[in-house]
Amino acid sequence: MSDIALVTGANKGIGLETARQLGQRGIQLLVAARDHAKSEAAAAQLRSEGLSAQGLVLDVGSDTSIDHAVQEVAARHAKLDILVNNAGVLLDDPDRSPSQQSLEAWRGTFAINLFGMVAVTRAFLPLLRKAPAARIVNVSSILGSLALHADPGSPIYDSTMPAYNSSKSAVNAWTLSLAHELSGTPIKVNSVHPGHVKTDMGGKRAPMSIEDGARTSVAMATLGADGPSGTFTHLGKTLPW
Ligand code: NDP
Repeated sequence: MSDIALVTGANKGIGLETARQLGQRGIQLLVAARDHAKSEAAAAQLRSEGLSAQGLVLDVGSDTSIDHAVQEVAARHAKLDILVNNAGVLLDDPDRSPSQQSLEAWRGTFAINLFGMVAVTRAFLPLLRKAPAARIVNVSSILGSLALHADPGSPIYDSTMPAYNSSKSAVNAWTLSLAHELSGTPIKVNSVHPGHVKTDMGGKRAPMSIEDGARTSVAMATLGADGPSGTFTHLGKTLPW
């Protein structure tokens, strides 16, 4: 039986490319997106490239949508081998200082980047436990690194987007808690930084291609039995928490 991977926010950007690269390794794909038409279009695109892919509607901000997605996956498959929690939003207003960001932006960011990730993971954990050695990848960001934000010499020192950055710090804290809980199991859970990638979120001037931006997620989704759990990495390098 081939491995099955679910990637959230897989209709475009790093998520779509992560699904593509996992599919190229012979893994069956559940191409999750909040919009039905977008998930079907992305799955059709990947099938046209010769990959095994099915669309799945999954709005990580909706408990009802998550419940439906779990039911659908459980009906189609007996297990889930890989969960890539990729969906994310950046809602901070670049023209406002940290203290002037709206609470709407804070709440909207945490609803998707943190609570959505936690809710999706909790809901799929029973299926992940049914796989022989599941892998969970939490797509964080270098902007979640508290150590680098505290260092005036670091390249991200001036990247003050408080809602986004602290949602990713919280993602990292969640990764450590879950890795601790699952340490006695074959399941591994890790945070990744994709790089600054040319996507709708990363912008046209970002230095990294989408192909390279997906590599860290793919590497951590396909770790062997001797691979780590509870880490925060970018292209094989450990990042400071
Ligand atoms: P994009 O904006 O291109 O893609 C974001 C994806 O998340 C889209 O598929 C979007 O769907 C989806 N999404 C947003 N809200 C929801 C929701 N409620 N339910 C389901 N899916 C949702 O961004 P990237 O590809 O650049 O980002 C992917 C991940 O990488 C994010 O977690 C981001 O924070 C992280 N990251 C990106 C960096 C970069 O430079 N690009 C740097 C560091 C981290 P829709 O199309 O429907 O909006």
